[in-house]
Order: sequence, then C-alpha cells, then structure tokens
Amino acid sequence: MSEKKIRIGFYALTSCYGCQLQFAMMDEILQLIPNVEIACWFMLERDSYEDEPVDIAFIEGSVSTEEEAELVKKIRENAKIVVAVGSCAVQGGVQSWEKDKPLEELWKTVYGDAKVKFQPKMAEPISNYIKVDYNIYGCPPEKRDFLYTLGTLLIGSWPEDIDYPVCLECRLRGNTCVLLERGEPCLGPVTRAGCDARCPAYGIACIGCRGAIGYDVAWFDSLARVFREKGLTKEEILERMRMFNAHNPKLEEMVNKIFQEVKE
Ligand code: SF4
Ligand code: SF4
Ligand code: SF4
Repeated sequence: MSEKKIRIGFYALTSCYGCQLQFAMMDEILQLIPNVEIACWFMLERDSYEDEPVDIAFIEGSVSTEEEAELVKKIRENAKIVVAVGSCAVQGGVQSWEKDKPLEELWKTVYGDAKVKFQPKMAEPISNYIKVDYNIYGCPPEKRDFLYTLGTLLIGSWPEDIDYPVCLECRLRGNTCVLLERGEPCLGPVTRAGCDARCPAYGIACIGCRGAIGYDVAWFDSLARVFREKGLTKEEILERMRMFNAHNPKLEEMVNKIFQEVKE
C-alpha cells in the first residue's frame, strides 16, 4: 500500500439511499480511515464536493432526471474507476419496473400535479450513460460486497464478478426448493448469486434483487416455461421478471416465445 491515501467518492442519484446507509453503518469503515480519504460522501462527510477528482467513485441510484444524466458524466470525468452500486445503478432498479408505460402517466400517479425543480426522465442504469468499471449487485448489496470491492481495488487488484445463480448457493445451504416443491415463482435460477440465497432460506421465493446473471446467459425463457406449467399467466410472469430486469432487451421476446409454443 502506498503512503498516499486513495480518494473515494460516494454519490447518490435517484435512490432510497439504502445502499450507502448499509455501508455507512459498517464498523469496518473506521478501519479504512488511515488509507482512504473521503472526498465526497454526504452521509458521512458534511464537507463533500461532487466535482472533486477521485480515484474510485461509487455511484448509487438510477439516472432519472436530465440533471443526473449530466452529473453522472461529470463524476466519470473526475474518477479513475467507477463502481455502480446496487440494483438502481446497475439495472435501473425497481423504479424501472413500468418503464414501458408513458412517463407522464407514471409521474401523475406518483406526484399528481406537484411542481419540481428538476427535469424527470424514465429511470435507467448508469451504464446507459457512462463506462462502468465494476458493479456491486443487490438491493441493497451485502456489506461484504462493498468490502471486497473496495479492499481489492485498494491493493491494486481487480474484483471478480459472480457468474453463477442464486440456486447454487441455495442448494449448498440445503434449502427446500420453493419453486419445485411449492410451485412458487422463484427467480433464483436467473439471478446472480452472492446473498447466500437469503430469501429461499426463509421459505420466500427470490424476486431477483441482485439482477440477472447476465442478459445473454440468463434463461428467462426456460424459467418462464416452468412458471407457465405452475399456472402463471404471461402477464404475471412478465410482471415478476421485470421487477429488477426491466431493461433486459430480450425479456418480452423470451417470455412471448414460451406462450407461442402453447398455440402451435
Ligand atoms: S439498490 Fe435498493 S437499497 Fe440501493 S438505493 Fe436502490 S432501492 Fe435503495
Ligand atoms: S428455491 Fe429458488 S433459488 Fe432455491 S433452488 Fe429453488 S429455484 Fe433455486
Ligand atoms: S434471494 Fe433473491 S431477492 Fe433475496 S436477497 Fe437474494 S437475490 Fe435478492
């Protein structure tokens, strides 16, 4: 480790602030103080400045206003490494769930006739605007995800992505499979692992909060077929799969294909 402190920033776009709260409450944050200088993290440091140069920028939240689209580009320009934190930043978050509906309709439902200072737009992942070097998954991510990512970057190495599904951790824990044994619509087979199958361990079906293991490798079509056989309608399947995967460009096509099979 060099003598020079690593400058980090933690920035929030449209979000619930749950990711940074999760990390700000970690005791281990105090142990970072000798090695890290916090240039921007409003939850921890009142004297924070969003336009300071940093070595690592952690960004939470989706790009949901025109102003955030500009902010995220400015953060990228000022950062050597950018890490997207949480499902809002990585996948667009639950606020993207109804992304195919007109923005005006959604806006009216939530805010009515309220006047705001910013220019709203449909929520998007930050990678739609800037190059992202690394993702931390989850809603919110696990504390160890943040420690692993920051710790690995601090020693000059590069964090590895998890490329296997929640099912793997679930079976290793010996959980009852809520999909096969109770017919519940569990998204574990297409969702990136790392949470130690927290929800199935409590007998609750995974809703996919860590996002797909990769849009190119996650078999939403095969899982849709299983859900169909368990009695779910196409609309119910799409509703569930879109929650954290609304920006998957192939999702609708994959689910439609499965219901097409029934007609043929
Ligand atoms: S990913 Fe989840 S916990 Fe994090 S800011 Fe978004 S909604 Fe909140
Ligand atoms: S409960 Fe869900 S995550 Fe666990 S094995 Fe079954 S489908 Fe996979
Ligand atoms: S089981 Fe699924 S919904 Fe639950 S924490 Fe893990 S990824 Fe998220």
